[in-house]
Amino acid sequence: MTTNEPISMNLLNQDLFKNWPFDQDHCLTCALCSSSCPISGIDGFDPRKIIRMVSMGLQSELVESRWPWICTMCGKCEHVCPMGIHIPDMMRAIRSLRDRDKVPGILHKGLDAALKTGNNLGLPKEDFVFILEDVADEIRQEPGFEGFAASVDKQGANIMTTIHNKLVNTHTEDLKHWWKIFYAAGEDWTVPSENWEGTNWGMFTGDDPAMKLMSGRIAENMVRLNAKNLLWPE
Ligand code: SF4
Ligand code: SF4
Repeated sequence: MTTNEPISMNLLNQDLFKNWPFDQDHCLTCALCSSSCPISGIDGFDPRKIIRMVSMGLQSELVESRWPWICTMCGKCEHVCPMGIHIPDMMRAIRSLRDRDKVPGILHKGLDAALKTGNNLGLPKEDFVFILEDVADEIRQEPGFEGFAASVDKQGANIMTTIHNKLVNTHTEDLKHWWKIFYAAGEDWTVPSENWEGTNWGMFTGDDPAMKLMSGRIAENMVRLNAKNLLWPE
């Protein structure tokens, strides 16, 4: 090294982090990411610490750390970062480096079920449609919604929407709110009866092939139902 060459903090182990596409060395340590992050402080987490650890070559410690897994991927840090550092993508890339059998249990099981059945609950199509009809029935009991009907697998709808698994499990009340908005607005909408889950478990576990497969299923539903627009609340 000559004296006029910049000193890089990037001490990454090229075997583990080869093709690493992020510019963590541009970090100003301004802490805007830390102050915007909804989980800063939980278990000592701070997105700036992740950036520092990457820069300092602490890759093994990061891959084994719980921190990248408690990040919600909300993207607030990236939004405020003056250097445009893609922190959520970095978190996902770190997750992808963990051995698959060491992915945290709930995510590991969720992805497995989603790949096998189209949703992380492993809910059969008949049960899913039954729940939707049941929710629709409850909505019809309310004044002003007597004509409401669940719209499943409708061809040519203006909106096809995915569903978060909790909306057909523990939070069916939340499903009612936006279905009632559709009804009040006179919206032409539908829900696919299969592969309806919006949560991309492949994305959250850092598994790119699985992420692609799950996204592809939603695209296939769009084509199958000839839907004009996709509402993907996730
Ligand atoms: S906001 Fe960006 S530049 Fe500032 S500390 Fe965070 S990663 Fe670094
Ligand atoms: S993406 Fe992760 S690190 Fe960034 S603000 Fe959200 S929770 Fe924090």
